[in-house]
Amino acid sequence: MATKIIQKYFVNQQDEVTIQCRTCGRTQTLFIASPENKKHSFNINCPCSASFSVTLEFRQDYREKTHIIGHFRALSTPRARARSCIIADQSKGGLLLQITEEVPIKQDDHVIVSYRPDSSFSQEIEKTLRVCHYHPEHGIGGAFIDPPPQRETRPRQVALH
Ligand SMILES: [Zn+2]
Repeated sequence: MATKIIQKYFVNQQDEVTIQCRTCGRTQTLFIASPENKKHSFNINCPCSASFSVTLEFRQDYREKTHIIGHFRALSTPRARARSCIIADQSKGGLLLQITEEVPIKQDDHVIVSYRPDSSFSQEIEKTLRVCHYHPEHGIGGAFIDPPPQRETRPRQVALH
């Protein structure tokens, strides 16, 4: 069996990847957004009879369009007063939240978002986002930040005199 050539491609922000046959130079643009296309590798059979394997890479900032109902709140807001939002896209690095009412949020604020990233999660998770941009009509774009480390409860320090 001949060793197959494996080509690696990055999926762009428009969910497209352009694949080129190295034998004949034909290019083909594939749309990757639909879930059934979201395989990370597949074979291409070119009309020139060349066949090769393609491996897809999704960049760190690759954004997946979603429509997930979630909740968000400021760090100081109790959970019961969280507002609902729609997570319009998600990436490894952050989320875009669509909101229906104006909120007093500005850049670099931190918000806690609770949502189920996909149907494999039986419960909502909570993520802390740093607001990168906020526009009442376009929503809140935020980047994940690591939550403050959960410290074990330690006995209160005794003041030394
Ligand atoms: Zn070809």
